[in-house]
Amino acid sequence: MQVPDIIIAIDGYSSTGKSSFAKIIAKEFSFLYLDSGALYRGVTLFAIENGFISDDCTIDVPGLDKAIVGLDLHFGEGGTYIGNRCIEKEIRSLEVAGKVSPIATVAEVRNFVDMKLREFGKKRRVVMDGRDIGTTVFPDAELKIFMTADPMIRAQRRAEEMRAKGDNVNIEDVLKNLQERDYIDSHRKVSPLTQAEDAIVLDNSHMTMDDQMVWIRKVISERFGC
Ligand code: C5P
Repeated sequence: MQVPDIIIAIDGYSSTGKSSFAKIIAKEFSFLYLDSGALYRGVTLFAIENGFISDDCTIDVPGLDKAIVGLDLHFGEGGTYIGNRCIEKEIRSLEVAGKVSPIATVAEVRNFVDMKLREFGKKRRVVMDGRDIGTTVFPDAELKIFMTADPMIRAQRRAEEMRAKGDNVNIEDVLKNLQERDYIDSHRKVSPLTQAEDAIVLDNSHMTMDDQMVWIRKVISERFGC
């Protein structure tokens, strides 16, 4: 299938499988995959380690704004990096997950991440997942998908994923975390999580990855005639 040089924006609720879907799309159609959430998680880890966010999620906004100006946060071999330190494992912890949504409400943090994302999108042929890709980062994306799934199914999937990586989590904590993140993400002032008007909804509660790939091939061939 010859997919043209487009931007595919995948937004939606936490743990709906956006990044797994985006990675497979990237592989199948030779697109660059970008995980925007990883950058928010990277800023969050930086904020935790440097004392810009307290245990009760109070944020030193002026301090963080200043400190991120020179922050060397980027993608590299095997995931996300700060300088030459790979932070991929740390950013997936429940501690980071518990603080990332408050951090992502900070306007300067959003500007910092948006700048990096737009740089990657210049050449198109990119699939990017997040919360505001189709609404704010790339409102001109040629294909926008909004993903959703039953919260309990999402929590089960995420808990399994974390257990497979050796994290001994319980399902109630995971469910609570993803519901809190959904709430904060949908209610923040700057770039809240909303479905773009021209996005197509994908509810994958009862779909396998193969089902989702059949779905997207059909969408792409109908829309782009390929
Ligand atoms: O996608 P992931 O779950 O890793 O994202 C972590 C958090 O980063 C989200 O819960 C959200 O608060 C924030 N985020 C965002 N906008 C994006 C991507 C992620 O606010 N485009």
